[in-house]
Amino acid sequence: MQGDLEIEAAELRNGIAAGQMVVYYQPKVGLFTGQALGVEALVRWQHPERGLIFPDDFIPAAERNGLMTELTDFVLDQAADQYAQWQTNRIDLPVAVNLSASSLIDASLPDKITAVCDRHGISHRGLDLEITETSVMADPKAAIAVLTALAERGFVMAIDDFGTGFSSLAYLAKLPVSVVKIDKSFVLDVVDNNADAHIVHGIIELVHGLGKHVVAEGVESQDALNLLLLMGCDQGQGYHWSRPVPAEELTAWVTKHQHAVTVAGRETGMSTRAPIPANEAKRLAVLQRYRILDTAYEALFDEIAAVAAKVCGTPMSAVSLVDAERQWFKARVGLKVAETTRDLAFCAHAIMDPAHLLVVNDATTDERFAANPLVTGDPNIRFYAGAPLVAPDGSAVGTLCVIDSKPRQLSVGQLDVLRQLAAHVIAIFETKQQLTELAERREILSQRDLRLAS
Ligand code: C2E
Ligand code: CA
Ligand code: CA
Repeated sequence: MQGDLEIEAAELRNGIAAGQMVVYYQPKVGLFTGQALGVEALVRWQHPERGLIFPDDFIPAAERNGLMTELTDFVLDQAADQYAQWQTNRIDLPVAVNLSASSLIDASLPDKITAVCDRHGISHRGLDLEITETSVMADPKAAIAVLTALAERGFVMAIDDFGTGFSSLAYLAKLPVSVVKIDKSFVLDVVDNNADAHIVHGIIELVHGLGKHVVAEGVESQDALNLLLLMGCDQGQGYHWSRPVPAEELTAWVTKHQHAVTVAGRETGMSTRAPIPANEAKRLAVLQRYRILDTAYEALFDEIAAVAAKVCGTPMSAVSLVDAERQWFKARVGLKVAETTRDLAFCAHAIMDPAHLLVVNDATTDERFAANPLVTGDPNIRFYAGAPLVAPDGSAVGTLCVIDSKPRQLSVGQLDVLRQLAAHVIAIFETKQQLTELAERREILSQRDLRLAS
């Protein structure tokens, strides 16, 4: 917190009362899909003489002069109002508000935030809350009580500026927060600074190990984005996508970037979201254990996909894995892209019923797919048949599928071969996993032997 202009308490109080505070919004983006999953509300002071003043220059003064409550109340109210407006326009963007240490020890905070939601007629999903580890540590007992009450009411909370606070890691596991934001000081230089890269990678592993989501702040370049993707980071925020901007600009940004999906939804009047299986959490855990996502090309799987295409007489085929946000192709024949969003994936529908193949003879006459950009545009899918890849516990992690740009049908014999090949793919995943685990166990044992010998 540098800067801190010489701001008089009275001037700040007047500024708040005179409506000179404005809220800007910055998107939080899913790294795989590039789509905005939410926004952060960041306050600015539109000063009549000094121009736009940034929060680092007046928030310390607000803290010192007991004006933080007024400021937070204002931002909460704006954020809720903005979320409601976006909802009306069919844009679903939860707004995250930053809470200060003083808010966190205020036992009436959960009631206050609930009242804000009620006043604007929005669900508790609409307001997320960001807190820094430092502000929790100011009075951990009081803060945890407030956070627990908020979590019980369904508010999503994130730890902000993670990595800068020197707090005990044990607190991270105990806090009822589901998201951790890596401080931008580690991310800005992640591509060129080896130490930062190790810190960021370590935080991602740690946070995932605790079952939480991780957001990287300060993503400024495509290179940083690529590296974070490789490290398994979930979301990013930064100038690479957008600076914090006024609400109208953010709406324009979202509309532009979400265009394909939004339009597809409007044409059919149908939801464009992929369906989610009832056993989704278990299914994702099984997929994770195979450690197959984002692995290098392996000829074996392309050969299986090629056999499937040949037997079925289609120009395209794939081994597709469906994770939380996308389908990723372990193997592909005749397909240009390496992955698509989950919402566009035919395979996301095929995994809904592990016991049966999904066959779509003509996608243009199927209301689930008619407006899908993969149908209306390249590669112009008309025919699709997908055999679910079913793990021994019954979860479908993806499909072996064949695709054609002409409507068609498959014989019972062809469908049967597809099903058998899918079973082979799963058998290979299982074998690879067992081999990896065996090798790891051996490694642990030999390290123990070394220790005992020395
Ligand atoms: P923060 O919560 O860590 O917010 C993220 C800051 O990083 C924002 O600065 C944002 O503009 C900046 N940022 C985002 N992407 C990039 C990037 O790619 N590169 C770089 N260099 N910076 C990036 P901003 O808006 O100046 O806010 C500064 C801090 O002021 C915030 O840090 C937050 O702690 C505080 N703040 C802002 N609004 C509020 C508020 O309504 N209430 C409270 N309590 N604090 C607020
Ligand atoms: Ca923040
Ligand atoms: Ca931050």
